[in-house]
Amino acid sequence: MVRTRFAPSPTGHLHIGGLRTAIFNYFFAKANNGEFILRIEDTDKERSKDEYTRAILEGLKWCSIDWDDICYQSKREAIYEKYLNFLFEKGLAYKCYCSKERLEKLKKEQLEKGENPHYDGHCRNLKEEYSDKPYVVRIKLPKEDIDFKDYVHGDMHFSYKEFDDFIIRRSDGSFMYNFTNVVDDIECGITHVIRGDDHLTNTAKQIVLYRLFEKEPPEYAHVPMILGEDKTRLSKRHGAKSVLEYKEFGILPDALVNYLIRLGWSYGDKEIFTKDELIKYFNLENLNKSAAVFNPDKLLWVNEEYIKSYSPKELLKYLKDFLDDSCKSFSDDYLSKAIETMQARAKTLVELADGMMFYCVEPKDYEEKGAKKYLKESVKEPMKFLLDKLKEADFENEESLKKAFEETMEKFEIKMVKIAQPVRIGLTGRSAAPGIYEMLMILGKDESIKRIEKVIDAIPFKSS
Ligand code: GLU
Ligand code: ZN
Repeated sequence: MVRTRFAPSPTGHLHIGGLRTAIFNYFFAKANNGEFILRIEDTDKERSKDEYTRAILEGLKWCSIDWDDICYQSKREAIYEKYLNFLFEKGLAYKCYCSKERLEKLKKEQLEKGENPHYDGHCRNLKEEYSDKPYVVRIKLPKEDIDFKDYVHGDMHFSYKEFDDFIIRRSDGSFMYNFTNVVDDIECGITHVIRGDDHLTNTAKQIVLYRLFEKEPPEYAHVPMILGEDKTRLSKRHGAKSVLEYKEFGILPDALVNYLIRLGWSYGDKEIFTKDELIKYFNLENLNKSAAVFNPDKLLWVNEEYIKSYSPKELLKYLKDFLDDSCKSFSDDYLSKAIETMQARAKTLVELADGMMFYCVEPKDYEEKGAKKYLKESVKEPMKFLLDKLKEADFENEESLKKAFEETMEKFEIKMVKIAQPVRIGLTGRSAAPGIYEMLMILGKDESIKRIEKVIDAIPFKSS
């Protein structure tokens, strides 16, 4: 059975890159009827914070990246001890008592000789143990080269000479990342590791550990980093935000997931995927070899597509966080109808919520440019006539509303825009808005009449 994991360190917020890694692992597991495990790598007590763990969980939940199981490395000390003892018993690890000074001197000498700094194995064969001296634990690095196959990078080869007897436990007793990561992947039965290619060298070291533990390593896919538009690694400088900031920004979680999965993976030139399609199509073969560039405009485009495709009821669930309090007194039915008239033209939920405010509160003022253009003295009489007709019209019936407009156009021999635009401005405050009849029908007779009376009073428009 396929088992993947996402293994964030809670030393910062969940960012786009981390979320993408989680998404790849999640869909690969689901595509293979497998399981997706969340592992919080919180062994670094100084830098790990509960608030980051909470934010990571919240970000993943918001995106519906649900885990089948979760574990915390900080609670797995005993398991790491067990694996460490295995290495001691087999004579594959040893305590190193070298002082900082000795290691610094060694490094300096090696650099002077033009060598890469590496530990010289000084404590490898020490006979005695010192109970009063601090020590780190190192592995005995086997003199064997390291080869593995990567779904993205192909055949990887590392000479053992690139490594030394690396540390697996620090002098304060805490375990190193490569050690706990491998132990947990073994214990959790992880079959595929999908992560950023900044971990390639770690993978070589981890494969050494699998050998020492006499276990088979999982399969690997190391995905290229996400770059900013200037082709440097995506960072805060590019305005890269924590995942939850995209929520505040009015991005739909499914749109973000869809955008991110395409950032480094493709399926022909298909752009929009349902979750079911992703579960069906996601594979490791189609991961891109070159780095992906984060493009905020494309994210907005994907978001727009999602906003268009959702049912108004569904959108409303997400929109509630963005709607002004004045909308709270309206029924879901009313708000859904309002959404339906607006959802084709919004890039974000913020935009959508702002745009449909007029359905809940009457406009405070009129957009200057439109008002100047359309609220002219010459339309005052036609507008009064239209108002009378509308007072008699049936607002549940589009034909009846149409008739009121048509009669006005005929009587004054004017075009629709002459009266439609002042009505639009009266209802919404703006000259660009949804269709006249649908707005009138949703707002209803009383509210519409009230707003049209008000706009007639404002004719001719004088800017303040
Ligand atoms: N905690 C590591 C990180 O956040 C995990 C890397 C891995 O997936 O093995 O980079
Ligand atoms: Zn030593």
